[in-house]
Amino acid sequence: MDNRNEVDIAIVGAGAAGIAAGRQLADNLGDKGVSFRILEARDRVGGRGWTVAGLAADPLDFGCHWLHSADRNPFVAIAEAAGFAIDRSPAPWSRLAGNAAFATAEDQTAFRAAREAFWERVHAAAETGEDRPASDLADPASPWNPLIAAGSTWANGVEPDRVSTLDHWRYDETPVNWRLPAGYGALIAAHAEGLPVTLGCAVARIDHRGTTIRLETAAGTLRARRVIVTVPPPVLLVGGIVFDPALPGTLAAAAGLPLGLADKLFLALDRPEIVPVEGQVYGRTDRTAIGAYHLRPLGRPIIEGYFGGMVARELERGGMPAFFAHAADELAALFGSDIRARLRPLAATAWALDPRALGSYSAALPGFADARARLARPVDGRIFFAGEATAPDQFSTAHGALLSGRTAADAALASLA
Ligand SMILES: Cc1cc2nc3c(=O)[nH]c(=O)nc-3n(C[C@H](O)[C@H](O)[C@H](O)COP(=O)(O)OP(=O)(O)OC[C@H]3O[C@@H](n4cnc5c(N)ncnc54)[C@H](O)[C@@H]3O)c2cc1C
Repeated sequence: MDNRNEVDIAIVGAGAAGIAAGRQLADNLGDKGVSFRILEARDRVGGRGWTVAGLAADPLDFGCHWLHSADRNPFVAIAEAAGFAIDRSPAPWSRLAGNAAFATAEDQTAFRAAREAFWERVHAAAETGEDRPASDLADPASPWNPLIAAGSTWANGVEPDRVSTLDHWRYDETPVNWRLPAGYGALIAAHAEGLPVTLGCAVARIDHRGTTIRLETAAGTLRARRVIVTVPPPVLLVGGIVFDPALPGTLAAAAGLPLGLADKLFLALDRPEIVPVEGQVYGRTDRTAIGAYHLRPLGRPIIEGYFGGMVARELERGGMPAFFAHAADELAALFGSDIRARLRPLAATAWALDPRALGSYSAALPGFADARARLARPVDGRIFFAGEATAPDQFSTAHGALLSGRTAADAALASLA
């Protein structure tokens, strides 16, 4: 802990939500004389927004990458103000570009129609208030079910049997997706510049028995009048932070909001012209345990593999050799075995094994769509919760995390007035 061991508002976690909460406080404190501090367990800010430089010619986003709903995403204005270039070209998955994994163009069209019909049935069920597994709405006769499930692992981090119909329906997005060539994680980190953040400061216990709340960390104890907690729900669930007295309602909500898993594999590609710029291919079309590959994103000489759900969990256990072997086999089947020698592994993520994240983005369990609102509920008018999992309709995203952080900061500030 630094020279101050007492603040009005303590923020736990310096991901998109915690940083946004801090920025909101800094922008709205005026002459109120309210002090705050952000405590972050890692030795960097950004959380699941993490841009890594130095592994390839261009920076790599290990976590969030796409400015989803870009036409209304508040990070766009933040990027413009900070001088970050924005790439506005359409996302590869939004175009019906050739996908080498399909036997014919008709197959690709049939798959897209089956996938759309499936999610329409899911949303129709949700509209009647049903909160059940999305897999209940699968057409048992469709040959495309394995690939539809693979798509769910990339979008939701879980297979459809772990997707809540109601939660999925509540997710609100526009079809506009942009990118930041310098990295989304870099932008989130830039948004933290100048804020009072203490790194390497894991909060182990929040004692709220007295009139002052005590946050116990390895670096000492910080006393605060209000706390905004932004850690991912599984971190709460495994006791990453212990509350005294316990918060059974908060923990019950967190139990309904596990993080789904999505991992990335970055491959350098020698003589990249053998694959199209901004191409998008599925590893194959007849299985769920496959990767999706973004070819030469932004024209760069790399392939970015995306793995979700169960297969990502399994590959994480095997580390880079497992990711690389899986991807090389699928890419060789699509582009010919010569491609093997041209691929060089750069990095693979392991978000489920990361104890400060325990996954990639939240997916409410079937029957638990309302857990987001329950997790967001302040305790005792003094402990506030933010983070993507608490966002009512833009959860799973960096901008949903940002909006939740702003909301929690406003509530914490108002409670002090
Ligand atoms: C592979 C991947 C791809 C993604 N792609 C996209 C995308 O394209 N677009 C998009 O919008 N979103 C994407 N996301 C999701 C997005 O990154 C997250 O929704 C968002 O970053 C979450 O922000 P947060 O502040 O809620 O949580 P986090 O970023 O997890 O922040 C929580 C912080 O709390 C810290 N912490 C944990 N425990 C403690 C403790 N005990 N004490 C103190 N600090 C603690 C953590 O270290 C972390 O920094 C992706 C995520 C992943 C993993």
